[in-house]
Amino acid sequence: MSILDESIQSLHKKIKSKEIRPSELTQAALQKIEQTDSQVKSFLTVTAEQAIDQAQKLDRLPDGNLPLLYGIPGAIKDNMCTEGIKTTCASQILANYIPPYSATAVTKLQEQNFVMVGKTNMDEFAMGSSNENSAFYPTRNPWNLERVPGGSSGGSAAAVAAGQVPFSLGSDTGGSIRQPASYCGVVGLKPTYGLVSRFGLVAYASSLDQIGPFARNVEDTAAVLQAIAGYDELDSTSANLEIPDYSAALNRDIKGLRIAMPKEYFAEGLDPAVRDRVLDAIRLLESQGAVVEEVTLPHTKYAVACYYLLAPAEASSNLARYDGVRYGVRVEADDLIDMYKQTRAKGFGAEVKRRIMLGTYALSSGYYDAYYLRAQKVRTLIKQDFDRVFEKFDVIVSPTAPTVAFKAGEQTEDPMTMYLNDIYTIPVNLAGLPGISVPCGLADGMPVGLQIIGKAFAESTILQTAHAYEQTANLNLRPSVAGGVQA
Ligand code: GLN
Repeated sequence: MSILDESIQSLHKKIKSKEIRPSELTQAALQKIEQTDSQVKSFLTVTAEQAIDQAQKLDRLPDGNLPLLYGIPGAIKDNMCTEGIKTTCASQILANYIPPYSATAVTKLQEQNFVMVGKTNMDEFAMGSSNENSAFYPTRNPWNLERVPGGSSGGSAAAVAAGQVPFSLGSDTGGSIRQPASYCGVVGLKPTYGLVSRFGLVAYASSLDQIGPFARNVEDTAAVLQAIAGYDELDSTSANLEIPDYSAALNRDIKGLRIAMPKEYFAEGLDPAVRDRVLDAIRLLESQGAVVEEVTLPHTKYAVACYYLLAPAEASSNLARYDGVRYGVRVEADDLIDMYKQTRAKGFGAEVKRRIMLGTYALSSGYYDAYYLRAQKVRTLIKQDFDRVFEKFDVIVSPTAPTVAFKAGEQTEDPMTMYLNDIYTIPVNLAGLPGISVPCGLADGMPVGLQIIGKAFAESTILQTAHAYEQTANLNLRPSVAGGVQA
């Protein structure tokens, strides 16, 4: 077992008691990346030199209280700005972009003196479910290198699963934290819209995007969330609320917790082996005193269509800024219009272009009412479905994704099949709610995720439920690439 397999809490204690030095931990992370990343390819940039420099400075512990993440190595998805360090969004159009500032979520981790070891691979501009849309190279699943890690935060999930880092940050617009967490057998949490500042997150679909943590257990996930949550005047959608102590909620028992099981999330299209694992997990929650009941979220069937109108519409507007003038790559041409055209033709990949076209169409005059406006109305209906269930229940549970990780190349020809990977995660973004994916066993040798959805700003409740499950199930699944024992 590598030192990096220990929990953040345990590493923190060892740093504090000087049993290990931050520089040793950072060296261990860099070594693990060196050993495994030629296969897994979680990283687009490894910031080895800066990380070692910084960690050596941290070896001299300051007086007083050490923050929990002090000296702990972590990785950041490459769509979050990092001052002086390339931030590409896995796109050719930003291949050389070095931001002059850092995202607030990153700054907040830096305030605790975490050590960033690199920027992780992703689907270009966070559009995708397999990491195969990265313009540079695809990430592979540490459990089975022939399979995808999920997406779009596939690099962040794979880095944690492979034991390269104890935690990472990702972003989730329609499932991009929870689905890769599920496919890679790690914990991933999408916070309530507004809980974590998006300042410095490269925008994809602004009414849906949220930043959140990946870690190997629920307690670590809560610790990272604690570090990044909170009001930020630099993000106009940031919620100005008191942030609770998430760790305090973890050990509360779940006796009497009211759990809803939406029947639409257990219907056709769900792999039977995945369903069995999730049902086992729900039974385990029930055995701890939770009360489980079936409910209906009747507008679920419209969620994917609704998302694929709204998200591309917002993306078409957000991505208009990449015109070769201010950011990133420019293809020189005879006149300005031609320069725009060639820059965007060369700079964007096929999926990004598809979404810009879809979104532009949905917003164009004459179609706006039929598509964009209608989708907004459906979004309200989806949100009201959740509101109704949450009048009576504390959490909603479901599979995170309908299948386990699929083989690389299997879905690249068929965007519709690829889009359906997010059928259980997308409604949560449309309603702005928090959701967590926690590993609940293996099917076909690959991890399965249990999704727990909460009321707005009820992160404590979903963490508590996930923790209760995790502690009782005690699965501790690790892929062999991370030196773990396969179940
Ligand atoms: N897979 C979904 C998509 O392709 C969600 C992506 C995300 O959450 N960023 O858009």
